Amino acid sequence: MFLPTTPQELRTLGWDALDVILVTGDSYIDSPFIGAAVIGKVLHAAGYRVGIIAQPDISTASDITRLGEPRLFWGVTGGSVDSMVANYTALKKKRRQDDYTPGGANDRRPDRAVIAYANLIRRHFKNTAPIVLGGIEASLRRVAHYDFWDDKIRGSILLDAKADYLIYGMGERPVVELVAALGGAADPKRVSSLCYAAPEPPEGYLQLPSLEAVRADKAAFTQMFHAFYHNTDPLTARGLCQPHGARWLVQNPPAPTETQAELDAVYALDFERAQHPYYEAQGPARALDTIRFSISTHRGCYGECNFCAIAVHEGRTVRWRSPDSIAAEAEALTRHPHFKGYLQDVGGPTANMYGYECDKKLARGVCEKKRCTYPGVCPLMKVDHRPQTALLKRLRRLPGIKKIFVASGIRYDLILEDETGGEDYLRELVSHHVSGQMKVAPEHTEAHVLSLMGKPGPQSLIEFKNRFDRLSREAGKPQFLTYYLIAAHPGCSEADMARVQRFASQKLKIHPEQVQVFTPTPSTYSTLMYYTEMDPFSGEPVFVEKNLARKARQKAIVTG
Ligand code: SF4
Repeated sequence: MFLPTTPQELRTLGWDALDVILVTGDSYIDSPFIGAAVIGKVLHAAGYRVGIIAQPDISTASDITRLGEPRLFWGVTGGSVDSMVANYTALKKKRRQDDYTPGGANDRRPDRAVIAYANLIRRHFKNTAPIVLGGIEASLRRVAHYDFWDDKIRGSILLDAKADYLIYGMGERPVVELVAALGGAADPKRVSSLCYAAPEPPEGYLQLPSLEAVRADKAAFTQMFHAFYHNTDPLTARGLCQPHGARWLVQNPPAPTETQAELDAVYALDFERAQHPYYEAQGPARALDTIRFSISTHRGCYGECNFCAIAVHEGRTVRWRSPDSIAAEAEALTRHPHFKGYLQDVGGPTANMYGYECDKKLARGVCEKKRCTYPGVCPLMKVDHRPQTALLKRLRRLPGIKKIFVASGIRYDLILEDETGGEDYLRELVSHHVSGQMKVAPEHTEAHVLSLMGKPGPQSLIEFKNRFDRLSREAGKPQFLTYYLIAAHPGCSEADMARVQRFASQKLKIHPEQVQVFTPTPSTYSTLMYYTEMDPFSGEPVFVEKNLARKARQKAIVTG
């Protein structure tokens, strides 16, 4: 079922009022890939009456007031993408397209959507139910952070939005705890993965340098970010607090990672895999083309690329669904009226992290001074592709499935590392799950830039390409690799991009087209480097291209 979004639907359901109203910067697409839909369905399954208002017009009262006022809380999210990333390119030009908006025009998501929607609620409802922020925009801006679009350090978005609570990371378990607490079952401030403002710091919480201190001193900001980053693991993290003027931003420790049974239960909910008819009538949402018939097999990533925020949002511990749960979802998809036999993706943040994890991490948390895949794959990470190979074979046998694509990114260094199952997995991919071309993301080819990105060197890329070419020949398939690259990452100069271009044409025999200019998104190590112009691990200065025209030139050196 769809959650209600109009007064007529409330009447049809016989609901006189709602417990929770979710307000989102995306259209209402009822899919397990859309956070507002997942949170709404989880709360509904827990017995609460939930409605959704998608992309409300912030200039009038008509959208935000149409479902009335919730009994327990307003949930506010900017949507699937940070609103500033959704609205502007890395060169700060307004984007014309929004895949999560009906019709596709980028005309519905306000800048800093979380703040805009919280203000909208307060403008039209006085002394209303608590406002709870969630989703990636809130999660990555939960403490003081560098904002590329303002080119300054901003304070916690919780305080900027004047909201009551903020749930960070994966929200299913904390939101159910919070809604029960708000109903009177417990003190809401004890809920894990929760941020709130307080007049005093809680006892035992680690104190981060104040907002004022990190604004004044880049070294203090670096120290703050290290402490923030190292307190994200559910087994080891302490609560954090940070003075913002006379108030304190308090971040409770993260919730334990989801169990397999909890994950399976989320994906067993009755998602429509369609846009709600109220919004569909305004035009199709392009995001559905890629997510409608895709399956998420796991969460989390221990790749820790420095430009990626998954480590502080989803976490570095991979947890995966059971093969039975995934097969049941695939079977259900084959019965969908629009299904034509093709699964667009079976994967996760990194496709080939399904089904294995480091035992030490599972028992005692992530290492503070080591990384799982950099500078090489840690010997305690027993890479094993056999569970994913078996899963793909099982899904292929299901009646109604013609082809399964693995469109999520893969880490080729993990395939090379796995002497037992790596070759079979890659053979499986090139034989059955690639159609003409396979995308990989080396991001760069120069060792010093790759090192600042936290990525492996170019040698593993060449080894992987040779193996991919050989297995494609053996499978009798003329296939090739396409490469995602990043220009203007901290440390990267125009001379570096000229070397990337030479490497691509001489070693990879290609002319790369998939080159993105680096975007300093909130709460990543690369963004920290961009702002401070320092390597946060060595303390050495780093060249950073900040001029927009010269950033564009870096890209053009490779793409022509
Ligand atoms: S022991 Fe190695 S694989 Fe395990 S968490 Fe630490 S760095 Fe990662």
